[in-house]
Amino acid sequence: MNILTFDIEDWYNVDFVTQDFNWDKYEVRIYNGVDRILERLERDKITATFFCLGWLAEKHPNIIKRIDKLGHHIGCHSYQHQLAFRFTPEEFRLDTEKAKKLIEDAIGKEINAFRAPGFSITKNNLWALDILIQLGFKYDCSLFPAKHDYGGYPDYGTVGPSILKLPSGFIKEFPINFHQILGKNLVFSGGGFFRLFPYWLIKRWSENSKYLMTYFHPRDFDPDQPIFESQKGFRKFKSYVGLKNSFSKFNQYLDDFEFIDIEKADTLVNWDKIKSLEVNFE
Ligand SMILES: [Zn+2]
Repeated sequence: MNILTFDIEDWYNVDFVTQDFNWDKYEVRIYNGVDRILERLERDKITATFFCLGWLAEKHPNIIKRIDKLGHHIGCHSYQHQLAFRFTPEEFRLDTEKAKKLIEDAIGKEINAFRAPGFSITKNNLWALDILIQLGFKYDCSLFPAKHDYGGYPDYGTVGPSILKLPSGFIKEFPINFHQILGKNLVFSGGGFFRLFPYWLIKRWSENSKYLMTYFHPRDFDPDQPIFESQKGFRKFKSYVGLKNSFSKFNQYLDDFEFIDIEKADTLVNWDKIKSLEVNFE
């Protein structure tokens, strides 16, 4: 099962660069970035899940409307890309509620899927999943099912969909997948590592994955984006490596593999056979 998802955020909507959220000063590149993706998907009638920032729904609602009109599945990617584990439970609830409402107002319908920025629901803030259930979300895609720089959730146990049981009910989890190399868990199906590694390797790792969860951003395909000089070292390298060829690589990826969105994936998973996981948190 290969799932196609995008995180809809502009090149400057990244909270690890700066904690300054005065974003109106930056050049808006998201319209072209999203159009490029939508045109490609239209060509082969592929539908995907688009996790959108509430901030974008507030400032540029037409982008979200356009994605929705083409029949894609819309999800929520927080209000302004703050990592979930930086919030208290109450702050997380307010942020998510605000973003959800802005996106729903833009498209005129309820949304049911969530992805936290940077896989930031970890073993240390699993309460966030309970809040998502309370807010009416059916699907979560925030978990990194192994050890990760931010903590991840190694107890998850498998790399594939699961039903997570929490005090407020349950939620269907579609985590990210990874490839293990030299003891490191590399996420290759999106972002920096998709751009960094040669396509034949991405293809081979993808063929060896029974479950593939991609995550692309419009900026992954934009070689002309301005560069944040304040980024340093590997972080900077990872942000800007391989931008020139990434869109043709992405095109090839869509040619070589069949992709579906999360709602479609939900109908294909045999949930009776999937182990559910009791999630405990403090
Ligand atoms: Zn993001």
